[in-house]
Amino acid sequence: MSPTIEPIVCPYDPTWVMAYYVDAPRPALVDTGGARHPTDAIQPALAARGTTLAAIEVTINTHGHWDHAGGNAAVAVACSPEILVHAAGAPLLVDERPHLDGYLTDTARLLEQPALAAAQRATFPDFFQRGPAGTRLLGDGDRIDLGAGVMFDVLHAPGHSNDHVALFWEREGGLVAGDTAQGTGSRLGGCPLYFGSTRQARTSIARLRDIPFRTLHVSHPFGRPGTDERVTAYDGDTGRAFLTDSLSALDAMEEALRVALDDDPATPFPVLARAATDHLAGGGRWPLWPEPMTGVPTGAAPTLHGLRDELNGASP
Ligand SMILES: [Zn+2]
Repeated sequence: MSPTIEPIVCPYDPTWVMAYYVDAPRPALVDTGGARHPTDAIQPALAARGTTLAAIEVTINTHGHWDHAGGNAAVAVACSPEILVHAAGAPLLVDERPHLDGYLTDTARLLEQPALAAAQRATFPDFFQRGPAGTRLLGDGDRIDLGAGVMFDVLHAPGHSNDHVALFWEREGGLVAGDTAQGTGSRLGGCPLYFGSTRQARTSIARLRDIPFRTLHVSHPFGRPGTDERVTAYDGDTGRAFLTDSLSALDAMEEALRVALDDDPATPFPVLARAATDHLAGGGRWPLWPEPMTGVPTGAAPTLHGLRDELNGASP
């Protein structure tokens, strides 16, 4: 059987995150899940394929978030892999603080919810363990050679995070998009989560749509408007439709935000986010369930904040 990108489901209550095994001369993992996933999910999946964590030679992180790189430490206990991450993600692999003061508590800070931030900080060690430093820092246009023609092109794809990369294996037509494009978000009732610039997110998603992929792998079971189906792998046509849906979900959130801003441009952000949520829910594009603590659906606050910056011309 020719080498391929083999998906590994890493449960992440109430959803899951994907890791991938690449059976190449230099066996590789793309992402390592959270702190416990290498032992709880990845090792059993590798055993079922007749291999082990100890055989892994290369680890590639699509980005440094805890649910994608939190397992790097546990993988490194079993082997001493090369560790590849975008240069902007390097600090996230080796230190809790940029998580705790950054992406992890972004929603809580934007919505002025210190109790939520404290709760997130308290449970963070369950998801992330400080791992080894990156041994190769990636940039756009780099290539990753795993031997015998298994070659990934690196596409810097910022938007969900500044350090996000997508990986394209041209010969196989496989594109690992990670969290670059999120449809209507990873949680039922939630929204797509773009922590960084929404302008860059749109550019990254549109760029992926132009890649001649035959299989699109995404890291969470993201939703799509008008269907309850949630999958993490798409064929070429359906994958391009998913990417188009991801762009139109951003357009719908922007439109709801515009209406909320027209009502009162000086509204403080937490109030604005709730008003935009109401307008978005009124549009009925997909189910929206505001979280009891914040009044805003999961994922919505960073994305609405990025869209506000984009509308104000303040977006990078
Ligand atoms: Zn992420």
